[in-house]
Amino acid sequence: METLFGDQLEQSETSSGSFADIILPVPIPKMFTYKIPKSLLEEIGIGYRVIVQFGKKKVLTGVVGKVHQKPPKAYEAKPILDLLDSHATVNPIQIRFWAWMAEYYCCHIGEVMNAALPSGLKLSSESKIQLNPTFDPDTSPYPLDEREEVLLNALQNKEEMSYEDCEAVLGIKSIHGIIKSLVIKEAIVVFEQVKEKYSPKVENRIRLTAALVENKAALEQVFQEISTKPKQEEILLKYLQEVPVYRKPELNQNGLEKKVVADAGMSMSSLKTLMKNGVLEEFKIIVSRFEDEAVSDAEIVLTEEQLQAQTKIKEAFEEKNTVLLHGITGSGKTELYITLIQEALQGGSQVLLLLPEIALTTHMVGRLRQVFGSSMGVYHSKYSDNERVEVWNGVLSGKFSFVVGVRSSIFLPFDSLGLVIVDEEHEPSYKQYDPAPRFHARDAAIMLAWLHQAKTLLGSATPSFESFYNARTNKYGYASLEKRYGEAQLPQFHLADMLVDKKKNLLKLDFTRMMREKIQEALGNQEQVLIFQNRRGYAPYVSCEDCGWIPECEHCDVSLTYHQFGEEMRCHYCGFKEKVPHSCPACGSSKISAVGMGTERIEESLSLLFPEARIVRMDLDTTRSKYGYQRLLEEFGSGNVDILVGTQMITKGLDFDRVTVVGVMDADRILYFPDFRAGERAFQQITQVAGRAGRRDKKGHVVIQTRRPEQAIFQQIMAGDYRNFYLQEMGERQRFFYPPFVKMIKVSTRHKDYKTAEKAARHLHNLMAEIPVKKILLGPEKGLIGKIKNQYIFESVVKLDRSSNAQAHFKQVLQQQLETLQADKDFRSVRFIVDVDPY
Ligand code: ADP
Ligand code: ZN
Ligand code: ZN
Repeated sequence: METLFGDQLEQSETSSGSFADIILPVPIPKMFTYKIPKSLLEEIGIGYRVIVQFGKKKVLTGVVGKVHQKPPKAYEAKPILDLLDSHATVNPIQIRFWAWMAEYYCCHIGEVMNAALPSGLKLSSESKIQLNPTFDPDTSPYPLDEREEVLLNALQNKEEMSYEDCEAVLGIKSIHGIIKSLVIKEAIVVFEQVKEKYSPKVENRIRLTAALVENKAALEQVFQEISTKPKQEEILLKYLQEVPVYRKPELNQNGLEKKVVADAGMSMSSLKTLMKNGVLEEFKIIVSRFEDEAVSDAEIVLTEEQLQAQTKIKEAFEEKNTVLLHGITGSGKTELYITLIQEALQGGSQVLLLLPEIALTTHMVGRLRQVFGSSMGVYHSKYSDNERVEVWNGVLSGKFSFVVGVRSSIFLPFDSLGLVIVDEEHEPSYKQYDPAPRFHARDAAIMLAWLHQAKTLLGSATPSFESFYNARTNKYGYASLEKRYGEAQLPQFHLADMLVDKKKNLLKLDFTRMMREKIQEALGNQEQVLIFQNRRGYAPYVSCEDCGWIPECEHCDVSLTYHQFGEEMRCHYCGFKEKVPHSCPACGSSKISAVGMGTERIEESLSLLFPEARIVRMDLDTTRSKYGYQRLLEEFGSGNVDILVGTQMITKGLDFDRVTVVGVMDADRILYFPDFRAGERAFQQITQVAGRAGRRDKKGHVVIQTRRPEQAIFQQIMAGDYRNFYLQEMGERQRFFYPPFVKMIKVSTRHKDYKTAEKAARHLHNLMAEIPVKKILLGPEKGLIGKIKNQYIFESVVKLDRSSNAQAHFKQVLQQQLETLQADKDFRSVRFIVDVDPY
């Protein structure tokens, strides 16, 4: 396969030519080449949306990826049917970015396009039919039935008909059969109607008529006339109060939302009269879905340490594209970001700040809003599509020169980025698992910045090993913040040995004495408590006390998770659910009970141990709704809650004055997860959650419960000794060939038939073994979870030499092999999934 990316770079972006490579939203490995009709030659360019025919009867919308002179070798190019845009929807840098992503993450560029464009900008297709111009009923070998005749007659008078139109004409509901038959008889053509889905938000407003704004005497006159009509007078006064046109006539232009009058309980019929008499007029305006907020212009005064870090970052940017800012929690990374963002914006560049999913609704966004006001766009994953399109268009129009957003905001149509910041760069949620492109937003952001000749700043209190490694080997610049801002002190740590307490009968409902005492103290002082429970591998399940039976999902190789609410058991992979049985299906015993310590269970235990405490739980289940997370945070912030129990969510972005105790329920479970990153994760998570204790002047306490307190990692966490922990773990990684010393690629093979899945996996494995690149190949093995949604899973892991040549070569050959395999009739229905840098 030709490398799209490399090829793209050599091409002049404005060169005119008579062929265009089109990115199509279908899973095919390459761009397709089409002929540009002469009439479109002048208008068309990279990033324009076009309509093309794909396959025999399908009409699709695509994006021009490249314009050139080379006719395709393998097929004759069809002409582009139509052009949709008068300007490019996607800019050339974006296309290069997409091409890089497809190549690096081993997926199709059409898949990247699908991820990149909000669906409001993708064109939805709605099937329509039209007469086949070459069809002649007199010479056709196929006889038509009565209904078909009727439909054809109707089509004679119309250019096109939708399926609904057809139903109306025939007076029946299911017309698919008739349409199919007509297509086979080549009497009609089905095509996809292209339509824009983005609908702007329109507001009904009222304003004074122009004559009255210009002429104050006339307005006085009006007031005299309506002096006996208090309802009309009330409305007019309300208007002038909200929109002071006397002082600022230009304000009348935007008027007042009609709803304001209605909401104030004023008479709508009086409003109508005012409009009829030419005093007020109604109009419509397109408004932003995002409300403007007050901007504070208080200047930021950086501390001595922050200033030094800032200088260091700027100096490093002179030579390096990427800098790692290693700053402990509460050291003021946000304030530092703000000053750097301001500078970049003043220089005329765009800025992108990436935040992990969950941190987006926290005080950080509020803080940024105070500084940047409505020039800042926010791109949240829980936004509706219309809201996303609005941010997209805001970036295009220049309204938002600064965007703060989740991982998918790297796809926004920036054309002149100067600075990209990735906050909490170690966060696993930057990785997209499914569907393709399976990218890591931090790594992709660095590439994006490079394409823009921009700089990237990575910030974290607990950097990922990859980034720290890059800083130590001088690929990245490095700056650090080692002090907390202001009076805030670091918390005091306590290791609580669960086994010792258990022996002494001091372990109550999984809470050690130390944990209980610290919680009690905090409650006594009207202070707040956070209890952290890692979610991974921690789902509570149901088990028979007599025979040990554990219910499993019918479709997946996992035990069902117990949900107290509704006494249900659910599969977290496929959604299958079932009521908890009254008796054991294996032995008939009625002793069925819940095992494991999910957050629900901890919440319950806490309410038994501390009956007066107000307890709230925060996890995926309680924060599903759009504002669920925010609502819980506000509740906690307002002081109406004493104890917050939660998963990873509570480790991020919380900044509350009254939290003095943080408890980690079971550190061992984080440490013993079967993954080479388990240690790194444990260090990160425990440090992050500990950072929530005592952010202000009160000293905080962190209690870590474990069965093995002697492990070195605990001393390192407590001492904040990231460096030694890193060195020790990296020794292991080097010895056993793990990233960042090798590049990892995971290839999984899925099929509903066990034998087929295994056979395909072995076949691919052998093919990969032959690729002449320095590597270690492991597998194929049954996946950690061997079956999901009735599909058996086998996995191979490739550990590649880090050189970029080896990587590129391996991926290229792998792509070809997959294409060949997929074309083999034995493996046509097998799914192959390539995950580069699996996490
Ligand atoms: P981090 O992101 O490193 O955890 P923050 O940026 O949230 O830390 O800073 C912690 C607290 O200290 C915040 O409330 C922040 O407003 C305050 N702070 C940090 N630096 C400054 C500064 N230079 N001036 C005023 N307040 C600051
Ligand atoms: Zn049993
Ligand atoms: Zn399942």
